[in-house]
Amino acid sequence: MQGRVIYQEHIDVLIAGGGVGGAAAAAALSQLGLRILIIEPGPAQGRRLAGELIHPPGIDGLCRLGLLSDRSMPGSPVKGFAIFPADKDDPASSVTLRYGEKPGTRHLGRAIEHRILKDHLLETVQRFPGVTAWIGARVTRIEENPDGSFTAMVRSNDGEEIRIRPRLFLGADGPMSRVRKLIGISHETRRYSGMMGIEVEDTHLPNNGYGNIFLNSAGVAYAYAIGGGRARVMFEVLKGADSKESIKTHLGLFPPLFRLDIERVLATSKPLAAANFCIVPNASVRGNAALVGDARGCCHPLTASGITAAVKDALILRDALSESNLDIATALRRYSRRCGRLELTRRTLAEELREAFLAQTPEALLLRECIFSYWRTSDKACVRSMALLSTVDTSIFSLATQYGTVALQAFRLLPRWFFEKTVVDWHRGVLRLVHKSLAFQYAAIRQWLY
Ligand SMILES: Cc1cc2nc3c(=O)[nH]c(=O)nc-3n(C[C@H](O)[C@H](O)[C@H](O)COP(=O)(O)OP(=O)(O)OC[C@H]3O[C@@H](n4cnc5c(N)ncnc54)[C@H](O)[C@@H]3O)c2cc1C
Repeated sequence: MQGRVIYQEHIDVLIAGGGVGGAAAAAALSQLGLRILIIEPGPAQGRRLAGELIHPPGIDGLCRLGLLSDRSMPGSPVKGFAIFPADKDDPASSVTLRYGEKPGTRHLGRAIEHRILKDHLLETVQRFPGVTAWIGARVTRIEENPDGSFTAMVRSNDGEEIRIRPRLFLGADGPMSRVRKLIGISHETRRYSGMMGIEVEDTHLPNNGYGNIFLNSAGVAYAYAIGGGRARVMFEVLKGADSKESIKTHLGLFPPLFRLDIERVLATSKPLAAANFCIVPNASVRGNAALVGDARGCCHPLTASGITAAVKDALILRDALSESNLDIATALRRYSRRCGRLELTRRTLAEELREAFLAQTPEALLLRECIFSYWRTSDKACVRSMALLSTVDTSIFSLATQYGTVALQAFRLLPRWFFEKTVVDWHRGVLRLVHKSLAFQYAAIRQWLY
C-alpha cells in the first residue's frame, strides 16, 4: 500500500458505512469524546427498498443519541403490528399486537421513508463533536498489522488512496459487508426471497398507525404509513416464483379499495426491488475491528427489527467502551457477547415465524394455528409477543418460554384436528413443537452458561 497515511493520533474510530448502523455508532461514540471518521460511498442513485419501520427501542435510542427529536420527527407513528392470517374466509380476522405501555418507556414506534431516514441521520451526525464524514469515499482494501489491528485503504471521492490506521475500526457497510470479508470473518448466507415495494396514498390503508402484515402462500406482504399521506406496500416474491403472479396472490388478501390504489400505481410505475437474506457471520469482532448493524448479521425483515438492532449495537458498543475505560480489546469482547444475545433471539424468532407462516407442512400449519390461538387468548399474550418482536425483550429464555406456551395451544386445537381426521398430523406437529421447545431451552441454557 502507498500514499497518504492517517494514524490513530488523528482518528480514533474509522467507520465504513454511513447508513443507520454507521450514523448511530458515530453518534454514540462521539458521546465518549472520540474523533470519528465515517466513510460513505453514497449518496446512492435513486431510492432504495429497505428498513423503514422502527420499533420503540430504536426510536428511543435515536432520540437519546440526538439523531431524532420528538419535536420534529419525520414519518408516521406506529403502535404495533396488525397481522392478517392467510385465511381468505375470514379476512377481517387480523390480530393486533400492540407495543406494551410501561410508564416511563416509549410505546410508539415510527415508520420513516428509508432515504429520508438515512439522509437525516448522516446529515445530523456530521454536526456532532468529533465526527467527520467523507461522502463519496469507500474502503477498498484492508491490511492486517503485525499486532493484529487493521489498516484500511480508503479511496476518496477525488480518487486519492489514503491509508488509515485507527484505534477502532467499525464495519457498518451493510449485509454484503466488504469489511467483514476483508478482515477475515466468514459467514453463512441464505437467500430467502425478493421483495418488491411501492408507495401509494394512505387513504385506504387498513389499520393506519400499525404495520400491517399480510400472510399467504406467496410470502409476506406489508403495508404501513410513512408520513405525508403516503404508505409503503411491500410484497415478498419467493425464490423461483413469478413476481406478477406473486403480487396478484398478495393483492387477493388486501381490502378492495386499498387494492385498487395499489393496482393503479403498479400500472404506471416500476416497483423498487430488494433481496431478503439471512446472514450469520461466525464472529462480530476481530482484532481492533467490530461489525455493526446488518454487517454483523441480518435476518428476514418479517419482524422489522434490523434498524432497531443496529441502533442497539451502537448503544451496546458505547457502553462497552465506556465501562472498559476505552480499552478496545475488553470492550469488543463485551460487545460481541451482548450483541450475540440480541441477535440469537432476533434471528431465531424471525426464522421460526417465517417457517410457521409460510411452510405448508402439517407441522407448520399446527404451529401457525397455535400462534394465532395464543394471540387470541389475551391482550397480555399479544404484548408479550410484541415485546420479543420489537426487541424490547431480547431474552432467549423469554422466547423459549413463549414458544412453550404457544405449543400448549395444540391441546386446545386437538378436538378440531380430531374431527377433521388429521390427528396423525396433529401428533407429528406436537412432537415437532416439543422438540423445538426443548431446543430453545437448550440454547437459552447454553447462552446463560457462556
Ligand atoms: C426489503 C427490506 C425491508 C426491510 N424492512 C425493515 C423494517 O421495516 N424495519 C427495520 O428495522 N429493518 C428493515 N429492514 C432491514 C434494514 O434495512 C437494515 O437492518 C438496516 O438498513 C441496516 O442498516 P446498516 O446501516 O447496517 O446497513 P445499510 O443500510 O446497508 O448501510 C450500509 C452502508 O454502507 C455503505 N458501504 C457499502 N460498502 C462500503 C464500503 N466499501 N466502504 C464504506 N461504506 C460502504 C453503503 O453505501 C451504505 O450506506 C429491511 C430490509 C429489507 C431488505
